[in-house]
Amino acid sequence: MAISPELYNDVKYCQLCGKPMSVITDREGKTRSRCTACGWTKYLNPIPAAACLIVNDEGKIVVIKRKYEPNPGEWALPSGYIELDQTAEEAAIAEMQEETGLDGEIVQFIDYYMGYSPIYYRVLSMGFQMRIAGGELQAGDDASEARYVSLDELPPICFDSHRHFIKKYQEQLEKSGDSLK
Ligand SMILES: [Zn+2]
Repeated sequence: MAISPELYNDVKYCQLCGKPMSVITDREGKTRSRCTACGWTKYLNPIPAAACLIVNDEGKIVVIKRKYEPNPGEWALPSGYIELDQTAEEAAIAEMQEETGLDGEIVQFIDYYMGYSPIYYRVLSMGFQMRIAGGELQAGDDASEARYVSLDELPPICFDSHRHFIKKYQEQLEKSGDSLK
């Protein structure tokens, strides 16, 4: 898939020297935006995110109602972008704490998913199954509501990536009985 030059339309000026940028094809044939004066190059890459599939002792999972864009008012798993100083696992634990009030531990990496974003074009999401190590469930930060639901009573989940992680988890459960709880 070639990257459309229009994706660089917002990159008008160099972040280092302020001179105009121009879209070029680099040595590898890839489309980039490069400064016409100092040569600084803007790379567009997928943005990494972490999502939490939190399973409690009864096998119910935590869903949150989103407060902000994208998809406000819709249900999702707790999730967020990975900060520069975090591993994917640390990001998952931090998002779980911020959005649900629950302390979390990683049970397993479920899968990754290459999704689309209206802001970042592509998002590389990593899904983790989490166990609850403490705390009380409450909606925090960017959630207006947080609740436990059983897998057969899930509300519509707004992100492809989150639906993918839930489906993968369900497939694992079916294969292994209840041992993943
Ligand atoms: Zn420059």
